[in-house]
Amino acid sequence: MEGDFTVTPWEVTGQIDYDLLIQKFGTKRIDEQMLARLAGYAPLHPMLRRGIMYSQRDLDWILDKYDQGEKFVLYTGRGPSGHTHLGHLMPWIFTKWLQDTFDAELYFQMTDDEKYLFNDNLSLEDTLRMSYENALDVIALGFDVSKTKILVDTELIKTLYPLALKVAKKVTFSTTKAVFGFDNSTNIGSIFYTSMQSAPALLPSDLKGRNVPVLIPCGIDQDAHFRVTRDVAEALGYYKPALVHGKMFPGLTGSDKMSSSQPETTIFTTDPPKVVKKKIANAFTGGAVSAEEQRKTGGKPEVCSVYKYQYFIFEEDDRQVESLAERCRKGEILCGECKKLLSERLVHFLEEHQRRREEAKGKLDDFLMKA
Ligand code: SF4
Repeated sequence: MEGDFTVTPWEVTGQIDYDLLIQKFGTKRIDEQMLARLAGYAPLHPMLRRGIMYSQRDLDWILDKYDQGEKFVLYTGRGPSGHTHLGHLMPWIFTKWLQDTFDAELYFQMTDDEKYLFNDNLSLEDTLRMSYENALDVIALGFDVSKTKILVDTELIKTLYPLALKVAKKVTFSTTKAVFGFDNSTNIGSIFYTSMQSAPALLPSDLKGRNVPVLIPCGIDQDAHFRVTRDVAEALGYYKPALVHGKMFPGLTGSDKMSSSQPETTIFTTDPPKVVKKKIANAFTGGAVSAEEQRKTGGKPEVCSVYKYQYFIFEEDDRQVESLAERCRKGEILCGECKKLLSERLVHFLEEHQRRREEAKGKLDDFLMKA
């Protein structure tokens, strides 16, 4: 999408108007009625209560199926272009909630082929290596090994390729140009690639020999791929996958998306405590020019990356997060103290995550789908 902001699977820039995306992409808001329905299965995840997971396609339909005894399978993934950062963890944390709440199997796709095709600076060896590195972060979040399979595209190609071909036969070059903005200079692997991202949405049905509903939790930037999948699924004899879309995790610069290409403003799951503290110390805030001024006029939590980190992931208690915003606006807390609180919380979270990540090395084989 062009305008003041851009949201595609490969580029997210500018201040995103999330309401406008719902209109442009033709999705539905997760409204009060839907939240009330979801609350009937389990206490709502903070990302639902706060409108971070905010948009959907056919969520009512897949919940109807679930209520009728037809369980759904989850499918999400990662483009392994580098180390995992906190922004990547956000939808995965929500996916874990979905797995626990609905006792759902999960297929997690590592798109090493995609990152190779779309990034001139990465070799296939790089993206394959990062697939396994990123898989450790997935496992570290505590997904149930008996219900979770990690698929690496180039390693599982024999299984995925027949499904990708079925999709590819139904999708024209003209569709990919319209949906993704491709032109005659786009490499032909990129044009084909969306078929590979469709394949895991069809895989559970093929493996089980019957139609299986699939729910895809993902960032709203990935919707374009699944519009293509949904357009062809029924013609191929499958259910259309349902989706839940999340907003982008903010960067430390105050931008709308954390980006691996700016490592100084991005917190990676492998960062040591010293590095985390330094990055938080340099983070963009909504504070005033001086402490004295801030005590008088207060700060602006709505533009502050430190506040957004607490809001998006790290402060699960709604009262605490509201109290932080209020104290900020009244000048009762200053940025130095606020950054220190976030730093401590992040360091604690990452130390635990890194310990689990080490343990995950011994479990990797059990999570990988081989054929
Ligand atoms: Fe952000 Fe905290 Fe400063 Fe307010 S006090 S602007 S929430 S860092």
